Amino acid sequence: MACEDCRRARSAGLCEACDHRRQAEALIVEAGLLAATWSADPSDPVAVAAVAAEVRTAIGDAIAADWAEFQQITDPADMTAAGPDAVEDAAQRAATEAAAKAQNRTAEHRLVVRLEQLHAQARPEPVRPAPWSRRLPELAARPLDGEALGVIA
Ligand SMILES: [Zn+2]
Repeated sequence: MACEDCRRARSAGLCEACDHRRQAEALIVEAGLLAATWSADPSDPVAVAAVAAEVRTAIGDAIAADWAEFQQITDPADMTAAGPDAVEDAAQRAATEAAAKAQNRTAEHRLVVRLEQLHAQARPEPVRPAPWSRRLPELAARPLDGEALGVIA
């Protein structure tokens, strides 16, 4: 049965390369949406698309870097001997791995950023205020009546 994406023969409907290509694409889309949930107004499709495009570019760069590394550590004679299908499979496997790694990094980065935001909200910068008597000397000079006590509280 031919691959439904690339028509490669005897692929059980989906060859390894196309399976990896689909996985990589799904990871890229998911990573883009994940990034958008935290960094874009979810009701603004233009902002969400911009974040998704940014993530796609970043993952594309990561895939290119991983593939270049793979080619460096792989003997070209081995790739030639393995044949174009095997090279395509290897390329797509590398792309899927790079996309998965990039998605994890994106998720971890977003999580760290979000946690920092939540920590900052829950625990505001500790600012030790000057004693009220120094900030409000004219009040400090006054005898404490009910009105002044109200100001301090
Ligand atoms: Zn295929």
